[in-house]
Amino acid sequence: MNALTERVFVGLGSNLDEPLWQVSRAFDELADLDETRLLAVSPCYRSAPLGPPDQSDYVNAVAMLETELAPIALLDALQAIERNHGRIREIHWGPRTLDLDLLMYGDRIIDLPPRLRVPHPEMVNRAFVLVPLHDLAPDLNVPGHGKLDALLENQSREGLQRLACL
Ligand code: ATP
Ligand code: CA
Ligand code: CA
Repeated sequence: MNALTERVFVGLGSNLDEPLWQVSRAFDELADLDETRLLAVSPCYRSAPLGPPDQSDYVNAVAMLETELAPIALLDALQAIERNHGRIREIHWGPRTLDLDLLMYGDRIIDLPPRLRVPHPEMVNRAFVLVPLHDLAPDLNVPGHGKLDALLENQSREGLQRLACL
């Protein structure tokens, strides 16, 4: 890795076909990405679903990576991993085998809607993202939003349960 690396955070979510297994396999696939190193993974959490009712609970986690890939190249790579997991895009926020969101890319603010917005615009409203992110990087500053600590104070952890990852 040279000086052009950026530290990035990726949010993982699954609520279909053995979610813990989907997430653990995705950690391995993130570790295998070109020009990228997996630095750390958070614990896994069980969370109540967003969006359409009658879905199973989710398993969520966050991975911290170091990469030389440009943001769009990284997004492409994340979407290729989602496809490997047989993800079919059906209902918005509906059930999925694997969701990989690019939460943060260094301290950059990227606004290329609808393809890519970083920091992920909903991350600051989601305990299932902020809590595992805090496990990995308690002193983090979220560009445009401030300290992670302060963001977490506004969040209820109700419905969020820590699990052992596989
Ligand atoms: P949400 O974005 O609210 O978590 P979702 O993860 O279910 O919802 P998807 O269907 O996975 O949404 O993604 C829709 C589109 O969002 C993707 O095709 C992608 O191009 C775009 N997108 C924009 N910003 C990001 C980001 N930071 N990370 C991942 N995808 C993003
Ligand atoms: Ca998502
Ligand atoms: Ca997504």
